[in-house]
Amino acid sequence: MLWRPFLLVLFLFLASLAVTNAVRADSGDFFAPWIPDRTTIGRVEYFDYHLAMLDFRKHDMEVLGVDLKHHSIDLYLSQDEIQLLKTNGYKLTIVEEKNLMLAPDAGYKTPAEIATYLRDVNQRYPELTKLESLGKTVEGRDIWAIKISTNASVADPAKSKIFFNGMHHAREVMTPEIMLDMVDRLTQGYGSDNTITKWVENNEIWVVPMVNPDGNNRVWTSNSMWRKNVAYGQGVDVNRNYPFAWGTCNGSSGSAYSDTYRGPSAGSELETKAILGLVARTHPVFSISYHSYSELVIYPYGCDGARAETRSVIEPIGTEIGRLLGYSPGTAWELLYSVDGGDIDTYYNQYQVLPYVIEVNGSNEGFQPSYAKWRDKTVEKNRAGWRYLMERLSGPGLKGQVRGASVQELAKGEVSLKVFTGAGGTRTLFETYRVNPDGSYHIILNPGTFDVEVVRAGRSGQTNAGLVIGNSRLDLDFTL
Ligand SMILES: [Zn+2]
Repeated sequence: MLWRPFLLVLFLFLASLAVTNAVRADSGDFFAPWIPDRTTIGRVEYFDYHLAMLDFRKHDMEVLGVDLKHHSIDLYLSQDEIQLLKTNGYKLTIVEEKNLMLAPDAGYKTPAEIATYLRDVNQRYPELTKLESLGKTVEGRDIWAIKISTNASVADPAKSKIFFNGMHHAREVMTPEIMLDMVDRLTQGYGSDNTITKWVENNEIWVVPMVNPDGNNRVWTSNSMWRKNVAYGQGVDVNRNYPFAWGTCNGSSGSAYSDTYRGPSAGSELETKAILGLVARTHPVFSISYHSYSELVIYPYGCDGARAETRSVIEPIGTEIGRLLGYSPGTAWELLYSVDGGDIDTYYNQYQVLPYVIEVNGSNEGFQPSYAKWRDKTVEKNRAGWRYLMERLSGPGLKGQVRGASVQELAKGEVSLKVFTGAGGTRTLFETYRVNPDGSYHIILNPGTFDVEVVRAGRSGQTNAGLVIGNSRLDLDFTL
């Protein structure tokens, strides 16, 4: 007779579990979605590029890269997905069957090798470089930044800042190589190459070769196709975690198992915080974030149809970099698909940086081409891109100091420069530029005639009317 109450208790217990599970299933956090078992790289020929991309996004497929010249898209596929593509009539070629345990070519560098390399450069060039950890990852690795400038230990408001980074995505092993080549060129060329000497004297050049060392460690130790960081076990796509427009336009995934998982909240990841800490502190004029592969130059914004407010400046510069490299320029949604939470949108919208993503290597090279065959070729080719931006710092634009503002009002961003095009009666506002906390400013412009007005806490101040900007920068200080 005792077992009837026992059964009732058991029933109630099971019922409560069912209710709890139903709630959990709705919240989407506890039931693991289907995890695709991907090991195959496949290449699809497309007829309508954007329709194909939408189709792949709809099925949560993983796009690895594109070849716009030969009309193909590379996908990372499970056997089920291969079947699905065939059923839907796609023309598919198998490129490679990946052995994920097979590490990349040993010529590429591990997180420890990157750290050693940078320490060595810093020891050889103590006046020209400053090595700094931007923070630690969940596995305790430092995210290293190296600053290159004369008298590097001192922050100089008169110098323009520029920022380069590699490896937001763990498997993109070529990207730190481009950074290290840049560090070598700038340090070794100082004092012997006139152009490099000028750049290093006049600017603070910040280089972060490896944004995502934890993910890269996983590439070397257990999964050569790993893309995300390793937070929460499943990892977050660091380049979908930045706060501006985070998770807003179907340009990332809310599923922890997706390769474009945006993370639990905007800017949640240690890598994101480390990079934004540097950007917020230095206020770079330009940046390049290196990725692979597809041979593209990408500028803001990432969401379908969105354009940068100052596109008349930002887009031609991207187009010129593309011309120099033989890469295709455009926004992410024009060239690939919508991206939300990407780093460049936050740099641009919140920190006034003119930022670019460069996707190096073509689909024949992929993520990890032979080091001996492709490393030097790729880094040498890519010099033209970063060299162009270094040189563009002294091209058309306005730079100087705003004097007379308090430290507090500068820190709050209450001092601005309003830049108007078409001086006089028909002028239109081109940009409102927040002056940096150290009182410096550097605005990149196209040649033309401008009115520039200093604004303090919303109140207009002095206007410099009819400033003519030609093919080189105009240096001008303002006093409030
Ligand atoms: Zn990438």
